[in-house]
Amino acid sequence: MTKHKSLSDYAARRFRFAGNALLEFWDPFFAQIDKLKAELEASGTHFVSFANYDYLGLSKHPQIVAEAKRELDNLGVGALASRLVGGERSTHKPFEADIAKFLGFESALTLVSGYLANVTTIAWLMGKRDAIFIDELAHNSILAGTDASVAHVIKFRHNDLDHLEHLLARHREEYRYVLVVVEGLYSMDGDTCDLPRLVELRDKHQFWLMLDEAHCLGVLGETGRGLPEHAGVDPDRVDLLVGTMSKTLASCGGYVCGRKKVIDWFRYTLPGFVYSVGLSPVILASARTALRLMQEESWRIGRLADNATFFRDYANEAGFSTGHAIGRGVVPILFQDDIDTMWASQRLLDKGYYVPPIVQIGVPKDQPRLRFFLSASHTRDEIKGVIDCLRDMPPASQEARQMVASAMA
Ligand code: PMP
Repeated sequence: MTKHKSLSDYAARRFRFAGNALLEFWDPFFAQIDKLKAELEASGTHFVSFANYDYLGLSKHPQIVAEAKRELDNLGVGALASRLVGGERSTHKPFEADIAKFLGFESALTLVSGYLANVTTIAWLMGKRDAIFIDELAHNSILAGTDASVAHVIKFRHNDLDHLEHLLARHREEYRYVLVVVEGLYSMDGDTCDLPRLVELRDKHQFWLMLDEAHCLGVLGETGRGLPEHAGVDPDRVDLLVGTMSKTLASCGGYVCGRKKVIDWFRYTLPGFVYSVGLSPVILASARTALRLMQEESWRIGRLADNATFFRDYANEAGFSTGHAIGRGVVPILFQDDIDTMWASQRLLDKGYYVPPIVQIGVPKDQPRLRFFLSASHTRDEIKGVIDCLRDMPPASQEARQMVASAMA
């Protein structure tokens, strides 16, 4: 019999993932951003964050703050129950109507996070005789959904639609219903799939298509409507679209869009909706205002696209690899090893640029990177500054390498 351990000992053993020894050398996670910013600025260093996905720079927009305050006074903070049994606030339906209309869908339903929207939709939708095809680099929320589902799960190589087609040709007949889930813009790589071809495959092989557009609202397409607009595909050919209010809408919460009949069914049965609290009215009021502002101040969408393309090109000219990033919203700079990545991140922070290292968590172990979230509010000088700083940076010293190596031993 396995020797019984205290839960704390068990947790300590489970937490010993390869990278966490690095934390003894330097812990870049859970940084106290406000304090850090104040300290740097007090010493005369301008603080610029590339770590937050405030894509259109709306997070402190005075109209959003004012609307949030107004709604707080009006309805208070909480929704206080599941909407099904506890009733709705006056802000729930209007936001859902607005987001569905904007994205070109018949209906939408909000949930407390984008993560939950993926997990519960994927887990709920498919049965034992069905299959879910996902990209091998799918976001953890998609994986959590497939883990919780009773359907078969088949992975295809990242953005490789030849591979998907091959797998569909081989396996489609074995299953009753098939769901294919892809992301509009991959959050660690900043790349995208060939949507026109994917919708052709959908018609040919008869599957339902679900898009995770967490990083696409306000980011892809001339008016920020996401991958369908960017790729010139009618949203009608997408069966389900999951999105989040935590990025461009500078708030939090998720939504799922689809045909009215589907969303009506979800409204009464989707476990993550029915058995969870409704979104706070304050959050909905903020997100709804952000959605309106995104359309009224549409220059922000163009500026973000220009900034991201400029960043990618400038980084490439400086000799850095940005992988397959298309130059929208998220752009990574790829590194050889964890130590160099952590070192670069720390040195950038000394100069006022906050870019946390992505090592071990969320990416394959041998593909560390600095991930940059671009924003419409970044200036050209800030973008050039961070790349110049990275280019002129001396490599990690022998001493630093030794410290890290001994911490990891
Ligand atoms: N999907 C993707 C691709 C994401 O990157 C994220 C969050 N980073 C989510 C879903 C979850 O969104 P939320 O933050 O609203 O939970």
